[in-house]
Amino acid sequence: MSVVGIDLGGTKIMAGVFSEGVIKAKVTVPTPEEGGQAVVDAMAQAAKAAIEAAGVGVQAIGLGTPGPLDFKRGRIKFAPNIANFTDFPIVERLEQATGLRVYMENDANAAALAEHKLGAAQGAESTLYMTVSTGVGGGFVWGNKVLRGVNGQGGEIGHITMQPGGPLCGCGLDGCLEALATGPAMERMALASFKREMGTRELFALFQQGDPRASRIVLQAASWVGIALASLVKCYDPEVIVLGGGVALNAGPAYLEEVQRSYHRYMENWITPPLHLAKLGGEAGLLGAALTAAIEIGEI
Ligand SMILES: [Zn+2]
Repeated sequence: MSVVGIDLGGTKIMAGVFSEGVIKAKVTVPTPEEGGQAVVDAMAQAAKAAIEAAGVGVQAIGLGTPGPLDFKRGRIKFAPNIANFTDFPIVERLEQATGLRVYMENDANAAALAEHKLGAAQGAESTLYMTVSTGVGGGFVWGNKVLRGVNGQGGEIGHITMQPGGPLCGCGLDGCLEALATGPAMERMALASFKREMGTRELFALFQQGDPRASRIVLQAASWVGIALASLVKCYDPEVIVLGGGVALNAGPAYLEEVQRSYHRYMENWITPPLHLAKLGGEAGLLGAALTAAIEIGEI
């Protein structure tokens, strides 16, 4: 049997038909700027186009979406990058627009599920996933289960406090991992250090050439990630850790070495699960959304 996975992002929507362990057909459309119902309609159209292209019947839709979610009521509480999505009844609206049952999951949790079942942690009993890009997200998965928590806050590892009194985070608190280790956090530090605007692409290029100021910024960010992973291992005790996201995948080998070094430093005297790089790239969210539906309907 087949399901549709939908990965809803701030700029694009991906819909794919998932059947026998692979994506059979995939359709990508821009996320409508007006937000709200227009986003629902765009997702429904993308799903229909993918179903037609795959030429198979589907049983359900799995939706991976940003934002804190209200799983009990099937609502997005709010999505920072999508307009008119505050307390939005996304599950009901998408079911009305498609005539299919819809099961939703937080986008980072969905990516965690995909890496656990089909990616870098395939075969592991449990996986701790962290993605570092413009934000920090993550998830803990064991068997077919994703830790959502009672209030849908499980796996919000970007907001663990690393440095009380440190830089302010988008969530309003100070010293979150997300305020210290992401691309925007490094760009803020680059502005202070180089006295001009600098994107991560240029910063990483300078870092890879051995520029001392770029190295100071990037290695410090890497070190926060390693320390956070070591702390999280002591909470979750996963079999495998998977690290993904634009920063982790593009900053370069010396960044990853520093993540490993600080991770191992704070795991001294503890059993240390292996740390792997994510394998599924941009399709992790889509695959995870599809897996969410496949698990809910008992196909996996
Ligand atoms: Zn925060």
